[in-house]
Amino acid sequence: MKMLAMLLSLSGLFLFPADLAAKVKIVSTIPDFAAIAREIGGDRVDVVAMVRPTQDPHFLDAKPAFVVALNRADLLLLVGMELEGGWLPPLLVGARNADIQKGEDGYLDCSTLIPPMGIQSPDRSKGDIHPGGNPHYWTDPRNGIRIARGIAKRLAAIDPDHAEDYQRGCDAFVERLQARIVDWTKRLEPVKGTRVVVYHKSWIYFLDFAGLVEAGALEPKPGIPPSPSHVAGLLKVVQDSGVKFVLQESFYPTELSRQFADKSGARLLVLPTMVGASGMNSYIDMVDFIVNHIATDSEN
Ligand SMILES: [Zn+2]
Repeated sequence: MKMLAMLLSLSGLFLFPADLAAKVKIVSTIPDFAAIAREIGGDRVDVVAMVRPTQDPHFLDAKPAFVVALNRADLLLLVGMELEGGWLPPLLVGARNADIQKGEDGYLDCSTLIPPMGIQSPDRSKGDIHPGGNPHYWTDPRNGIRIARGIAKRLAAIDPDHAEDYQRGCDAFVERLQARIVDWTKRLEPVKGTRVVVYHKSWIYFLDFAGLVEAGALEPKPGIPPSPSHVAGLLKVVQDSGVKFVLQESFYPTELSRQFADKSGARLLVLPTMVGASGMNSYIDMVDFIVNHIATDSEN
């Protein structure tokens, strides 16, 4: 192979076939943006995600492979709002890749694409891990549309020769998602106003979409594990107020949630917030899974 390349090169015919066929290399922090980028870019993109769907995205052990992937990346997709603040910055320095640094086309902080929620005054947020607002915005499918459009636009800037392909991929995805949003909205209509308690405050965007009400959180502050006394206090506050569900992701412990659910008469739902968890392999399937559980379990 090397010999062939050399001969072609010497004869002036070396066309860098590998480069001509080069795909846009995308590194996403969470699997959800990776899944959406694949929908948009199809076989024009190579996408990897650093956080596994069963991992808490706030905390990640840096692996050397992440630095290698970031070094080669054309585009970095991140959640922003300080979700990755504890682990991404040193990786970005180690990557030595000028194209994916803040301010460049190859750096897309997806929180710039959505209307943020949960912004607090600095002293109120003391000690919690959402000081810059709530970063768990991708479970609201309306934000899924905004994220898809933002990624498509950025891909077009990085790879203008295929801008139309990205636009087409994005339009097809958005059209499917919009149709499902109509369907989900109908399914969620009967559960509007349902009160829920969450483990971590990762649900406010979805609850806003679904019209559900957060009655409290088991974590006293985001990132601070629940104590038995906080849980007992919350139980007093919400008792007899008709809390129907306790919502949490699989990477949080379920012991206190289960106790709380039993005592309050609520049902514990362990649901995915990242593509790949609970066997859901696409963004639409993941949202569908959440909607189905909330809508169906409310009927019982
Ligand atoms: Zn969080």
